Amino acid sequence: MFSWYFKTNLLLRILVGLVLGAIVGLIVGPGIAVIRPLGTIFVRLLTMIVMPVVLTTLVVGAASISPARLGRVGVKIVVFYMFTSAVAVGLGLLAGNIFRPGLGLNLAGGAAAGRELTSPPLVDTLINIVPSNIFSALVNGAVLQVIFFAVVFGVGISYLQISKDDRLRKAGEVLMNVFDGAAEVMYLVVRWVLQYAPIGVFALIAVVFGQQGKEAFGPLFTVTGAVYLALLVHLLLVYGGSLTAFKVSFRRFLAGTRAPSLTAFVTRSSGGTLPVTLAAADQMGIKREVSSFTLPLGATINMDGTAIYQGVCAIFVANAIGMPLDLTQQLTVIVTAVLASIGTAGVPGAGAIMLLMVLNSVGLPVVEGTPVAMAYAMILGIDALLDMGRTGLNVTGDLAGTIIVAKTENEFDEEVFAGRAAADLVSPAE
Ligand code: ASP
Repeated sequence: MFSWYFKTNLLLRILVGLVLGAIVGLIVGPGIAVIRPLGTIFVRLLTMIVMPVVLTTLVVGAASISPARLGRVGVKIVVFYMFTSAVAVGLGLLAGNIFRPGLGLNLAGGAAAGRELTSPPLVDTLINIVPSNIFSALVNGAVLQVIFFAVVFGVGISYLQISKDDRLRKAGEVLMNVFDGAAEVMYLVVRWVLQYAPIGVFALIAVVFGQQGKEAFGPLFTVTGAVYLALLVHLLLVYGGSLTAFKVSFRRFLAGTRAPSLTAFVTRSSGGTLPVTLAAADQMGIKREVSSFTLPLGATINMDGTAIYQGVCAIFVANAIGMPLDLTQQLTVIVTAVLASIGTAGVPGAGAIMLLMVLNSVGLPVVEGTPVAMAYAMILGIDALLDMGRTGLNVTGDLAGTIIVAKTENEFDEEVFAGRAAADLVSPAE
């Protein structure tokens, strides 16, 4: 039984947990609440790993960019990555406002009706990004402040690593190794926690369906539809538009990115797909000088699909508890979701963990037993499905930015691109 569990594909297990949870919940009804602790443990495990993951992965990410390489290429690619991510959250919010997933679900019932949700004004949100005490930021779970500190600290490490002074250089390398090791351990822990996901998802979903009955189905379809539609629009408008503006054929781009996009779709990991992405860049005529820097960076910080997903889900959670987000809160979501997508590790399900931070920023903390936690659990139940699409777009976005930067830097062989991609399109056998 145990070996069967661990041998079966995780994605399949989570989906089975989701479907079984819904069925069992519908059959048993409200009495299913006795298995609630199984779900609560899962939520606690997830919240347990947020801070360590954010701190370690961001320090390593910032420290990996050597200051000397933060030149033109760095600025260009970071501008592209950030700009497209902001547009992505905007699209996610737009899709959320059009489809209004979760509205009328009323998870909060009468209980929370009188409770007012306060979110600080945007200026305060921005000022609060700067921590006055990094330790209290860590203890209180102030993710934005930890992100700020981690980036500054990481850039500091990268300066030490190229110092002429032996002592400083060694110190920089030691620190880098420590944080790198800690980040790797956290990736491992994430994988372990995900092994428990099918059971946690089963319990969480069963309780939702046990209490909500059939009405719980509709909102999830709407969330999935809204996310995938926004992903498609982003692909066509943002990547299609910017590639065309730089006179790169979008059709050929799509043909050339087929392998990495599909790999990302099934593995749900930008990081895991990176070797395939790098190989595709080679075949599309992008010079290594650019791609070897921009693609690993993109796999770490550029997550347009994740940003879209966070926009839609923030709207869903707020609607589901009967307190839709106002304009200021939606603007806050744009800022925090861009930062959250930067901090999202390129591993399966990471975006769902960073969603906790986005929700936090608009006064919707996921605390066990609350309506917000129930709404979050519903999303988590279909996370695998959403993760496939968003990871596919994440990787495609890395390649779109890379081609454009390579072209402007004259590091792009258009003949290779045209030949290879055209051959792909016309006769795959060639
Ligand atoms: N799985 C995504 C990626 O690797 C991250 C996420 O969960 O949003 O790009």
